[in-house]
Amino acid sequence: MTKIGTITHIKETLKKHNIKIKKKFGQNFLTDLNILKKIAHLPDVTDKSLIIEIGPGLGGLTKQLLDTGATVLGYEIDNDLVPILKETFKADAFSLIHGDFLERNIDQDVKALNKEFDKVVVVANLPYYITTPIVFKILEESSIIKETYMMMQLEVAKRFTGKPSTKDYNALSVTIQYKTDTNIAMTVPKTVFIPQPRVDSAVIQMIIRENKKHTPNNENIFFKILKSSFRQRRKTLANNLSNTLNLDKSAIKEHLQNLGLKPNIRAEKLSVKDFVHLSDELEHLIS
Ligand code: SAM
Repeated sequence: MTKIGTITHIKETLKKHNIKIKKKFGQNFLTDLNILKKIAHLPDVTDKSLIIEIGPGLGGLTKQLLDTGATVLGYEIDNDLVPILKETFKADAFSLIHGDFLERNIDQDVKALNKEFDKVVVVANLPYYITTPIVFKILEESSIIKETYMMMQLEVAKRFTGKPSTKDYNALSVTIQYKTDTNIAMTVPKTVFIPQPRVDSAVIQMIIRENKKHTPNNENIFFKILKSSFRQRRKTLANNLSNTLNLDKSAIKEHLQNLGLKPNIRAEKLSVKDFVHLSDELEHLIS
């Protein structure tokens, strides 16, 4: 028997079942056992924990996740892969949902397992074409997932973790960092995937904040201002806000000065905390 997670295992399994790798489902399988082990050991889990895996594929990562002793709940969309996964992993600690992760009620699926867990984390080599919707679904819909470790394209990981005044910093960076503590846990070269993607990848760790460090009075206004602030990167913050929110430019400049910010500042200079203060300062002007 070849080892699950090796290139030989992937090729043999595809041949045996007469199936092809499907680009439409973002299938890039990991082929390096050391990397698979390293990813599986990123979260601190025990046999009382639950790991949710989005897209187990042919089970390379699933095998390592089960070896940690945790229970694993997988979501797989591909009809061809579901019977293979069921055949490969028969342990009680493994459950598989055949379906589109984006369409599921995650917290209900976890409750349906009828087990108590000390923590629920996500570990996944994501289908890249839906990275952002998956991340937002977890952040917005689940109240039980506290940590995630997700492989994504390095460029996207850099945006998630981008710091002010860098080229990777944008509205997405602020949103993610407002909701989570995020950092790049490891980078992964494109050469360890089959098929090989065009770019390198990274696993990012996101610890979801129960109590946010900085909280605006009105979250809707905070996000409205954030989106408008980065509308045109070359323009100043005051220009972007006055154009998109129909506000008086000189009034905005005055408010920026009240916050100790330069009137001609650009959005990329503002920290999450600055955006929270800006939201509270402009709240009365925005309906
Ligand atoms: N975990 C495997 C590995 O690391 O080798 C496969 C990772 S591959 C990048 C992404 C997996 O997600 C594929 O198995 C694909 O079929 C599955 N997938 C794609 N879209 C999905 C969705 N919306 N819901 C659930 N699974 C999905």
